[in-house]
Amino acid sequence: MPGRLSGKVAIVTGAASGIGLETSVLFVKEGAKVICADLNEEGAKKTAARIAATYGEGLAIAVKVDVSKEDQIKNVVDLAVEKFGKLSIMFNNAGVMHPEDDNALTTEERIWDLTMGINVKGVWYGCKHAIIAMRKSGGGSIINTASFVALMGAATPQLAYTASKGAVLAMTRELAIVHARENIRFNSLCPGPLRTPLLMDFLNTEEKKTRRLVHVPQGRFGEAIEQAYGVLFLASDESSYVTGTDFRVDGGIASAYVTPE
Ligand code: NAD
Repeated sequence: MPGRLSGKVAIVTGAASGIGLETSVLFVKEGAKVICADLNEEGAKKTAARIAATYGEGLAIAVKVDVSKEDQIKNVVDLAVEKFGKLSIMFNNAGVMHPEDDNALTTEERIWDLTMGINVKGVWYGCKHAIIAMRKSGGGSIINTASFVALMGAATPQLAYTASKGAVLAMTRELAIVHARENIRFNSLCPGPLRTPLLMDFLNTEEKKTRRLVHVPQGRFGEAIEQAYGVLFLASDESSYVTGTDFRVDGGIASAYVTPE
């Protein structure tokens, strides 16, 4: 059976952990070749090793990248083209939520700049170099990870993170329109609160976890694999008429007023 991504070449950033890890594995399962890119080189190698052990050698390459550095992103895109012949899917997923990110009065400028550098500039660089490569191969699908916090406010502030994810939504929408006639689609993924290290390290007590869960209609944190299935749809040709969306995989949180409990 041909997979849903048969013949496609993908780059996944943040591939060492959480959403990026699960998406890398699922992409290969569905027939794609994947560059697993992450600042955490050991983690990226582990993802590639898991893929090799499950699906065979030569389908995934691990690479160290800091997405906030344009030359490094360009090198990753060049690597995909050199090793696998083209780029069809770019998943700009790496992101940070800094423990010192807080409200307007307490968040320090260095935390703001660090967050924007990775979460916003990193996505811009990923889009820019993917566009250049995709123009040569007739188009592609670009998915940028935003968050439900880009759609709704929270009384537990992480101002830089929230602002950065709002920027991802706005940037993705505009790119979708600018490049719509080039057969390059852009969509944002808006995950709800997930049981991945990023959020669990932040909500490090039961009390903090409960404070969030009361707002989630489904009453639980999401799993990274549930995001990966959403990304698979956006990456595949099944979503060929889907562009410019804020694609929510959020347990219903962004539709909720009063929740069941
Ligand atoms: P995670 O912490 O499990 O994985 C994030 C990965 O990004 C890590 O492997 C990390 O090494 C990598 N990374 C960080 N900075 C990097 C950089 N400068 N260059 C390259 N790689 C870098 O987190 P996750 O939950 O899988 O998050 C993935 C994305 O989903 C992020 O953009 C995050 O903001 C977003 N998101 C997460 C949640 C959640 O509840 N976990 C909710 C909404 C959105």
